[in-house]
Amino acid sequence: MANSSQTYLSALQTPFGTRSLYDSVCYCNRCGMCANVCPSYQQTQQEPFSPRGRNQILRQFISGKLKAKRNRKLLEGIIRSCALCGRCVQNCPGRISTPQHVLELRRRTKISLFPRTLFYLLRLRQKSPTLFAGIVRGGLFLRRLGLLQFISCISGIAWVKHALEILPPKITFPVYKEVKDPTLIYLPSLEAEFMMPSLFEQAYKLASKEHHVTVWRNTASGLFEYVYGDLRCARKLLRGLITRHARTGNGRLPILTDSMDVYNFLVSAPQLFAEFPAFEKKAVDFSASIRYVTDFFPKKLNKGKAASSSVQLFCATAFSQDVSLELKIRQILCTLFEKNFVECGYKQGIVPLSGYGFVISTHAPAYALSAVQGMAVSQTQSVFVTNGLTALELSFYVHKFYPAAQVRHIVELGDNYAKFPTREPINSRTKTQTSC
Ligand code: SF4
Ligand code: SF4
Repeated sequence: MANSSQTYLSALQTPFGTRSLYDSVCYCNRCGMCANVCPSYQQTQQEPFSPRGRNQILRQFISGKLKAKRNRKLLEGIIRSCALCGRCVQNCPGRISTPQHVLELRRRTKISLFPRTLFYLLRLRQKSPTLFAGIVRGGLFLRRLGLLQFISCISGIAWVKHALEILPPKITFPVYKEVKDPTLIYLPSLEAEFMMPSLFEQAYKLASKEHHVTVWRNTASGLFEYVYGDLRCARKLLRGLITRHARTGNGRLPILTDSMDVYNFLVSAPQLFAEFPAFEKKAVDFSASIRYVTDFFPKKLNKGKAASSSVQLFCATAFSQDVSLELKIRQILCTLFEKNFVECGYKQGIVPLSGYGFVISTHAPAYALSAVQGMAVSQTQSVFVTNGLTALELSFYVHKFYPAAQVRHIVELGDNYAKFPTREPINSRTKTQTSC
């Protein structure tokens, strides 16, 4: 039995079954098919910054050939430049989970990525949800008065500046009714609850058509802590969620999330509790109850007055090797937009952004700009994303550099796709590769 204080995973669930980290890394046959899709390799053109390079370095690290103390700079570089976008997994014949390997390396070297202040603030969401909500509301109030700009220059909380830049100008907190006998639990992401009220409202409205929805407000999923490298805290939060779910509606209620990253993280709960036999079965049941917003779309999607120019999907996540959900979303877009749904080739520099995959500030803008550039090359008018934070981050760059385009969360298609706003194509040029 595992020690509950263990700070890293001793086994991963891989396409080849449950494997030790070393075995999982060794399945990488060094074919290099992942290199061209990796944003960090595209930027640096250096082998250690490719998925293959990361796997080889991790192998040396686990086998003791590469010492953390002596090679700290190299390890920091390869950990902090990985966007956790999961593109390498999608393009790897063996579906080697390089992002999961990077996360393990993060835990084993204790090289954290996020600023401590941000980590402690988000931890407050677990320890004192009311205080957390109060701080967010207070912060938004100060922002309206224009006072937060001054705070952002204090060392350690420079991330406030980034938050100020990407947040929409006006935020009003979502309103909903409590229900007595719920048939579904909605677990809004941090961004839906505190930054994007429209995302909350759309997901809630979609689920309410068929269900009595109860909202688990201000509930941390453990994803942030997992990515940060704090496995104990991630397990604790997830265990709390699993126990609460088991006590609500006999553990039979589906749980809706609006974030694909949260979805994939929660679905992977059995991996986190594989070494805890007493809890594993509960984790498996919990994992089977997780739903993503597209599960609540109408069964029959009638093609409406859809966009008259190219539409793309930015959908990638470090937390899943199962692409079935992504394929379903692609199918929805193909049905609704037919030949206007376009996918850019990987080499065109399309990279997904992942809010949880914050990377070092020297790389982040380059990754984002290459995504916007890819949209411009294919004259894409609308790009759909599957996470709120991605929508916020990408909107910021799109608005700045390519104002003719727009970023939408996929949930927007569930209710009013027939009325989805149309825009005239910028010009008649160009689809590089159509996927329908
Ligand atoms: S991670 Fe996959 S695609 Fe990349 S080198 Fe290894 S086996 Fe090949
Ligand atoms: S997750 Fe993304 S950034 Fe990290 S190695 Fe894979 S492709 Fe590169």
